[in-house]
Amino acid sequence: MNRKVTKYKRIGVFTSGGDAPGMNAAIRAVVRTGINYGAEMYGIMRGYDGMIKGDIKKLISKDVSGIIQRGGTILQSARSEDFKTVEGRKQAFESLEKFKIEALIAIGGDGTFTGAKIFTEEFGVPIIGIPGTIDNDLYGSDTTIGYDTAMNTVMESVDKLKDTAGSHNRLFFVEVMGRDAGFIALNTGIATGAEDILIPETTTNIEDLVISLKENKRKGKTSAIIIVAEGDDLGGAYEVAQKVKALDSSYSTRVSVLGHIQRGGSPSVADRVLASRLGFEAVEALYLGYSGVMAGMVNGRVGYTPFEKSIKHHNDIDKDLLRMARFLSI
Ligand code: ATP
Repeated sequence: MNRKVTKYKRIGVFTSGGDAPGMNAAIRAVVRTGINYGAEMYGIMRGYDGMIKGDIKKLISKDVSGIIQRGGTILQSARSEDFKTVEGRKQAFESLEKFKIEALIAIGGDGTFTGAKIFTEEFGVPIIGIPGTIDNDLYGSDTTIGYDTAMNTVMESVDKLKDTAGSHNRLFFVEVMGRDAGFIALNTGIATGAEDILIPETTTNIEDLVISLKENKRKGKTSAIIIVAEGDDLGGAYEVAQKVKALDSSYSTRVSVLGHIQRGGSPSVADRVLASRLGFEAVEALYLGYSGVMAGMVNGRVGYTPFEKSIKHHNDIDKDLLRMARFLSI
């Protein structure tokens, strides 16, 4: 962690990696806090891609009016292969020099912070990160911006699928996002009363799943919902459905992959408040002299975690909750 108290005159902000509801609320908070500190604020379009290409524009307070309730990101987002090269990062640094941008606020996930860590080490540009990803897979924040909204979207969708599953006595496999982390699957599974929840953090035993489905059937349950995180060790919802069908063909099974719908929509109260707080705190952190850290909420209080730590570690999933969900879904 590098601390050097400074008064920045020009600060850039960008969103990078997968977009998440609440990113706009974070941009608004960053821009307005910076302006309050007397800085000129600059929006960098499409993350590292726009930084390399010099696609940068000045943002005044009015530019971030009326965006707190909007999903997506007004600065757009991208994945940039060029930024993974020294030459690409050199070009990005030259763009910042051209606009006289002295410090950066990066809103994104672990890939974004990996790039930010390398960039700040190479060129000495102070950077504060804000956790903006629906996956909730960053260490150093109780939750990430977009996670709560994504879970509410999943919950509403599964509620609807439950209606139709019940009407037709069907077994639904619902795939939700989460390549490496089962947070969305676990909590939406609990919230929707799913019959089972399959997550990357545990080993899925297909025989056990079939046995518990049979047991449910015996007790009179005629339909069921299984939530499958996309990164489950047995594969996504299609693969799991096929494996179940191979062991027991008596079910009328359906698969629903919720996909990118989970990234969209107006952010929830929790995400708007989180984004506002972290946007504000990230700029304050810059003026306090922090760099190379992610601003997050830890046990309800603001904390700063070095990029290296936030990327390498994950918040642990509470496996007892899985056991509880199975108890409650008999
Ligand atoms: P999400 O978790 O929502 O997918 P993310 O920030 O992890 O978001 P990534 O696509 O993994 O999304 O990363 C965003 C960008 O960060 C990449 O497109 C790339 O430009 C940059 N980046 C990632 N890893 C590196 C790296 N090792 N070196 C330099 N830049 C990197």
